Amino acid sequence: MKAMTLHHMCSLKDTQEPLRYEEVDTPIPQAHAILVKVSVCGVCHTELDEIEGRTPPPHFPMIPGHQVVGQVASCGDEATRFQVGDRVGIAWIHSACGTCHYCLSDQENLCPDFRATGRDANGGYAEYMTVPEAFAYPIPHVFSDAEAAPLLCAGAIGYRSLRLSGLQNGQALGLTGFGASAHLVLKMVSHNYPDSEVFVFARSEKERMFARELGAVWSGDTAERTPQLLHTIIDTTPAWKPVVEALKNLVPGGRLIINAIRKEDADKNLLLRLDYPAHLWLEKEIKSVANVARRDVREFLDLAAEIPIKPEYETFALEDANTALIELKHRKIRGAKVLQME
Ligand SMILES: [Zn+2]
Ligand SMILES: [Zn+2]
Repeated sequence: MKAMTLHHMCSLKDTQEPLRYEEVDTPIPQAHAILVKVSVCGVCHTELDEIEGRTPPPHFPMIPGHQVVGQVASCGDEATRFQVGDRVGIAWIHSACGTCHYCLSDQENLCPDFRATGRDANGGYAEYMTVPEAFAYPIPHVFSDAEAAPLLCAGAIGYRSLRLSGLQNGQALGLTGFGASAHLVLKMVSHNYPDSEVFVFARSEKERMFARELGAVWSGDTAERTPQLLHTIIDTTPAWKPVVEALKNLVPGGRLIINAIRKEDADKNLLLRLDYPAHLWLEKEIKSVANVARRDVREFLDLAAEIPIKPEYETFALEDANTALIELKHRKIRGAKVLQME
C-alpha cells in the first residue's frame, strides 16, 4: 500500500518534506483487530509535535494520522463487532490496557499503556491501517467521511475539555485561542449550556470578529480583561502568555483548562510574570487535558450529529500531506485539512 512515513524527527525550519511517500506492506489485523481501508484522514497540529519531537514516536518509521474514517476491509479471527464494508472512525486513543486502575475507573486516557494512533501505532496517512475493534466507532449517517474526520480529534478533545471544565448552565466560559477545537466548543456550549455566555480571546481581529459571528458575547486580545470574571476558561493555544493572562479573569475557585498536548517554549519566560495573589490565590485551579477516552469520542459524535456540527474542510491528496502540514505550521488555515485517499 501507499503511505506517508516519518523516518526521523526534524525541524520544519530545515525541511518542507518531513514525510516520505512510499510503498509499505499492508498491515494484517491481529485476532481482536480490524483492517480499515482509509477513506479520509484529518491533519492535526499534533503531527507537527510528533515530527518536531515534542511528543516523539517511540520507533521509526511511523505512519502518522489519528482522525481516520474508512471501511472495514477485513476482521481478525476473533473480531466480531463489525462486518466487512462497515464505516468506522478511529481517533487518538488506539488502545489501553483495560485492566489498570485508570482503565477501570473511566480514565483510560491516563493508562500507563495508553497507545496513540499515528504515534505509538501506525495511523491513517496510508491506504490501510489496523486498530483493535473495541477502539473503532460507527460514524453517524449525517456526516460524510470528510466531515466526520476532523470531529474525531478537535471535537472529541474539545468535548473532554468542556466536561473537565465543570461548566454549569448559566456560568460564563472563556476560550483563549480560537482554532478548530474552540469553534466546536462554542457550538457545543450554545446547544448544551444555552444560558452560558462565551468570551473569546484571540490574537487577530479576524478571529475575534469570527467568534462574535458564531455567538460569543465578547471577544478581545489575549491580554485584555473581560467585563466580568469567568467561571472557567479553556486554553487551546501552544503558548504560555494566554495561560498567565487568563488566570486574572477567573472568579475565585475558577478553573483554567489547558487543552494542549505540548506547549512550545518560545515565550516560556512569561511565566515569571505569574503573580500569586492576582493569578492563583482564592483557590483557582489549572488542569490539563490528556488524550481522549472512548467515551469522549462516542458522546461527541452523537452530540455533533444531533446539533448538527459539520466542519468546513479542504482536501489534499495523500502524497500532498507535507504541503498540508507546512500550511498548518504557518497557520494557513481555511477549515480543517483532510487527506483524501485515491
Ligand atoms: Zn489531533
Ligand atoms: Zn490501563
